[in-house]
Amino acid sequence: MTTVDVPISHLRENPYEIAKSQLRKVADTFAIDPNLINVLQECKKALVVSVPVSMDDGTTQVFQGYRVTHNVARGPSKGGIRYHADVTLDEVKALAMWMTWKCALSGIPFGGAKGGVVCNPKTMSEGELQRMTRRFTSEIINEIGPEKDIPAPDVGTDGRVMAWIFDTYSMNKGHSVLGVVTGKPLTIGGSLGREEATARGALYCVREAVRKRQLSLQGTTVAVQGFGNVGSYLAKFLAEDGATVIAVSDSTSGLYNPNGIDVQAAIAHKRETGSLAGFRGADPISNEDLLVLECDVLAPCALEQVITAENADKVKAKIIVEGANGPVTPAADEILEEKGVLVLPDILANAGGVIVSYFEWVQGLQEYFWKEAEVNAKLNDIITRAFNETWSTMESRDISMRLAAYGLAVQRVSEATVTRGIYP
Ligand code: GLU
Repeated sequence: MTTVDVPISHLRENPYEIAKSQLRKVADTFAIDPNLINVLQECKKALVVSVPVSMDDGTTQVFQGYRVTHNVARGPSKGGIRYHADVTLDEVKALAMWMTWKCALSGIPFGGAKGGVVCNPKTMSEGELQRMTRRFTSEIINEIGPEKDIPAPDVGTDGRVMAWIFDTYSMNKGHSVLGVVTGKPLTIGGSLGREEATARGALYCVREAVRKRQLSLQGTTVAVQGFGNVGSYLAKFLAEDGATVIAVSDSTSGLYNPNGIDVQAAIAHKRETGSLAGFRGADPISNEDLLVLECDVLAPCALEQVITAENADKVKAKIIVEGANGPVTPAADEILEEKGVLVLPDILANAGGVIVSYFEWVQGLQEYFWKEAEVNAKLNDIITRAFNETWSTMESRDISMRLAAYGLAVQRVSEATVTRGIYP
């Protein structure tokens, strides 16, 4: 047996320490009882499992897996599962905490959770991925369930992985359990609009932000980092709204064209070749240069900690929309605030995914499925309301949009905790 080596991480700071320091800042600004903060800064449960997998070459590799529940005061815990080589327990804890705040800010009845497996899904065959997913699901099977903890896709996972989780769980229960996981393919009880939901939610947030700033998306220049589920759909939607997408990138390459990139063609190229590399009609650009491009809207839609104290003062965008979780570090946040950059924070800007996951869960429990227009309209209602609540808190308290969003969310979870009381 071999244990998988962990390469050098993209995480320069400990994300859980960042999440806890954000919480302390919220506590100071919103005068939240320190006893509550003691509770909220910890995760309710953290499961670490080893996942042995028979590889195609006959070897057995053992992957490390995590499932963390941060909080269930407002409902069952909800959050994605990440397959990435840099996954750590503290990263999963931070992501779980952010899910708690994200669900609270949107007012959907969930707590927060996250999962991850340390692996590189891009180098694994479909068979290896399926065996790893099914074994991981078996290892966490007592912790997940429709009333308990409901996984979904995140970085490195998709509908296919959710289908294997759904099937493994259902086989063990002896019947199909639609509500155990969201982000499922449509053929097995997924929701219309779920695949595009994170990007669509971010689009609705950008529309609101542009309206508040009395600008128009027509002719607005946009740079998008990350061309997975969130970045590719967001680039497409913004281009359809009249914006000029001048740069896009994935983990292997970046494209730049000041006159605008044909996003549909870039999506088709990525679908055919697996990456953006070799796409014609644009010049190459590095991920670092993309982040500091002259543009109106910057959308980091890949991983955490890409905008840091080192590059924040070089950012030229007027609006940053956080399609990813945690792309801006607290030190960078301060610099951006100083510069007057409007940051649409992750727990608001990328909440569309979990909002439509909530719709999928409801549809699955009722076995009654909605039209896509209904899904999108309800998403718009929820995220626009959350945007406006955040905006008025920002204005009335003269704080950043991130602090306003986190403040509203933490207050809601605090209220639920106080109302329920600490058991026993
Ligand atoms: N992984 C997504 C997120 O970070 C979606 C979570 C979900 O749908 O439960 O919000």
